[in-house]
Order: sequence, then C-alpha cells, then structure tokens
Amino acid sequence: MEFDTIAAISTPMGEGAIAIVRLSGEDAFKIADRLFKGVGSKSLMDVSSHTIHYGHIVDPKTNEVAEEVMVSVMKGPKTFTKEDVIEINCHGGLVSVNRVLQLVLNEGARLAEPGEFTKRAFLNGRIDLSQAEAVIDLIRAKTDRAMNVALGQMDGRLSRLIRKLRQEILEILAHVEVNIDYPEYDDVEEMTHQMLLEKSRYVHKEIEQLLQTSQQGKILREGLSTVIVGRPNVGKSSLLNSLVQENKAIVTDIPGTTRDVIEEYVNVRGVPLRLLDTAGIRETEDIVERIGVERSRQVLKEADLILLVLNYSEKLSEEDQNLFKAVEGMDVIVIVNKTDLPQQLDMEELNEIAKEYRIVTTSLKEDEGINELEEAISSLFFSGAIEAGDITYVSNSRHIALLNQANRSIEEAISGVESGTPIDIVQIDLTRSWELLGEIIGDSVHESLIDQLFSQFCLGK
Ligand code: GDP
Ligand code: ZN
Repeated sequence: MEFDTIAAISTPMGEGAIAIVRLSGEDAFKIADRLFKGVGSKSLMDVSSHTIHYGHIVDPKTNEVAEEVMVSVMKGPKTFTKEDVIEINCHGGLVSVNRVLQLVLNEGARLAEPGEFTKRAFLNGRIDLSQAEAVIDLIRAKTDRAMNVALGQMDGRLSRLIRKLRQEILEILAHVEVNIDYPEYDDVEEMTHQMLLEKSRYVHKEIEQLLQTSQQGKILREGLSTVIVGRPNVGKSSLLNSLVQENKAIVTDIPGTTRDVIEEYVNVRGVPLRLLDTAGIRETEDIVERIGVERSRQVLKEADLILLVLNYSEKLSEEDQNLFKAVEGMDVIVIVNKTDLPQQLDMEELNEIAKEYRIVTTSLKEDEGINELEEAISSLFFSGAIEAGDITYVSNSRHIALLNQANRSIEEAISGVESGTPIDIVQIDLTRSWELLGEIIGDSVHESLIDQLFSQFCLGK
C-alpha cells in the first residue's frame, strides 16, 4: 500500500519538556532533510537507520533558525507504521513546536488525522485491530493497573487467545465438512458429534472466562464511577479534596472530548475512581433534597460506588434514612465524618441500618481515617488480591459485545448438536462465531468501522 506523508505533534499539548513532531510516509526523509541543518553538512538522506542527530531546523525561505532539535531517522519497515519515520524532538514550548510543524507542512507533508499513525500501522499489517485499540486505551490509561491491561493487549495477549479459539473452531468446522462429504460413514458422524461437543464447550468456557474479566477490565479502563452523597455540610467536598490530594492521579488530557461534568480521577491503591467534581457534588446535594424523584435515583443507580457521608456530631435524620433507601443494593461505603466533634450519632442504630455495608469513621479536619477508607475501597473491588498482569482482561466495549455474540452462536451450536439438529445448520452457527471472533482482531471488519475507531485517537498517535 502507498500513502502520502503525514505529520503531527505526537506529544501532549501544553507545557511538556520535550515535544515531538512525527512524520511518516514516503517523503518523510526528504522533507526533514530540506529543513535540517546538522553539524558539518550532514544530510539525513545518508545516515544509517535508527540513529539520532543533533542540529537545527531552519526555515528555507528566511534561513532563520526555528528550533534546536534532535532528529530520529527510522527507515521502514522496522517502524511503528512500517513506513519511513522521522521524529523531530524539540525542547521549546508550544510556539516553536508549532513552527516546526508548520515548516514540515510547508514542505509537503499533510497534517495527520487523529489516530492516523496507528491506522497506518494497522493498514500496513504492523498491528491488529485489538492492538490498535489498545493504543487508544494506553493514551487514556489513568492508573498503573489500567496501563498494564492496555500494554498486555497491545502486546497481543488478547489477540493470541482469540486466534487460538478461532483455530479450535476451524478444526471443528473441518470435521463437520468431512461429515457432510461422507455421510455414509456412521462412525464418522458419531465421532464428529462427540468432538464437536467437546471442542465447542471448551471454546464456550474460554469465552465465558474472558467475559468475566470484562467488568473489572472496564473499571480499570474507565475508572469506577463514584458518587459522594450526604446531607449538606457533612463534609462531602472535604472528602473529595482529601482523596484528590492524597492520590494525585496521572491524568492524560484527551483533547476533543466534551464532558458535561468535570470529573476528578484519583487512583486509590490501584483502583481508579472517577469522582464527580464540585459541579457534580453540588448536583448530588440537590439529589439529596429531591430524593424520591425518579431522575435523581437514576443518577445514583448508574454509579459503581457510593460514598455515603454522615455527620458524627448529629443524630441520624430522616434525610439520612432516605439516602440509605435510595442506595439499597449498591456498593456502598458509609463514612461517619467529624469524629473530632462531640458524638450525637447513635452508632448502634447506624450499625443496624447499615449492616450490609462497610462503615469507616473519619475526621477530615484532623486528617484521620482516610487510610481506612482507602483500604475499604480497594478491598471492595480487588478483594486485595487481583494482579492485572496475570490475567487476559477484556475491557473494550466493542470486544465485549462481539464476545457475547460469538458466545451465543457457540451456545446455539452446542444445543443444536444436543438436540440432533442437522449438522449443516450447526455449521452455520460455528462459522458465525468464527467470524465474530475475527472482528475483534480486525480480520473481517467493515471499512467505516475502521475509520470510526481510529478517529477516537488523539492527534499525533
Ligand atoms: P459538604 O457540604 O458536605 O460538601 O461539606 P463540606 O466539605 O463543605 O464541609 C462543611 C464544613 O464542615 C466545612 O466548614 C468543613 O471545614 C467542615 N468539616 C469537614 N470535615 C470536618 C471534620 O471532620 N471535622 C470538623 N470539625 N469539621 C469538618
Ligand atoms: Zn460541598
């Protein structure tokens, strides 16, 4: 395949120490060479591949130095896109990086669309679709654990498992084919049924296991949607602030995403929480007032975790009781705050009402109890034990949907064999599940889907 030469700033926008302008395509070397003035009169066209060169980017029109740079020269196909790649490392701020990019575009490169580098890697056969999607996840990964899941996926862990399952299905299909071609041999039919059931059940079991990881995978990827509720003045905003202060999250900014609510991401012992920011908190305060209103219940129901805050220095009120009713059946941690003040709250009464929940006492003012709260959060979701590195997780909702569909086709096939359905009907279900699994790794994907997927990337990736 042949493509034009694309370029973009491939590091996050803003005040990074280094910014990289990346070029990929046939003319990448030529374009960079026209702008680069190295030590002596070294030309980038002559240097060996995968080397870095110090020099300056000079505007050919004015002969002005635009930026002091290190240029990496990488000849395809041993590059991310499999094409010739140039990376210009600039150390100036946004202005000079943009100037370098502008010069590169003047010399004939085209500004890359979001995700276009990764898309090329996919189209040039460098990575498969699930690996490309892992790049999206990597950009968005908020915590170490999420990062490991994405890395594992990029590494092809999920792809390998999917390939193995497809291979199993192919083997079944091959046997079915023999059976259809030689229907006169009874023992072949007998064997086929036996083998078909065994192998289908095995594939079914593997997919089920993978799907079981999806909830945790999704949480790792997107963060646990966490709503702090409680009456006015119990300390909700204080709680949000302490969690944010103690657990500064690595937040990667995703340009172009619009959010109604400003969210705070915090990483509590490996559990990424997506907390509602002040705007959202104010909304939950409203929720308290309007409890019983259907919409507000809905907001609560969509949360993965509820932090229900009470005031130690006040008696349990009817409002508190209503809150407990509203969050019934959810994952709730009860926080009894303001323990530095004289006790008014009846702990026995509370233990009765909240007997299904973990109760943590805090004094946010005195900085007490935060550790216990963090411990409660982490043990609630990881039972303290799960290591993302050991398991193949599936966390991408497209993958999950396809796995579910493939699983249903396998189930159809199994119950078909069990109830004596003609084997060529069973064959259809098996073929369908083979195709669905293929879509995960991009073996049978529609072109527009590919465009849509890659447009989710940041510019420059
Ligand atoms: P919200 O209305 O639920 O968000 O509550 P805030 O976080 O705004 O806190 C209300 C007031 O209680 C503020 O003046 C806080 O400083 C104070 N406060 C929060 N936590 C504690 C605590 O543990 N002890 C005491 N004595 N005051 C607290
Ligand atoms: Zn508040």
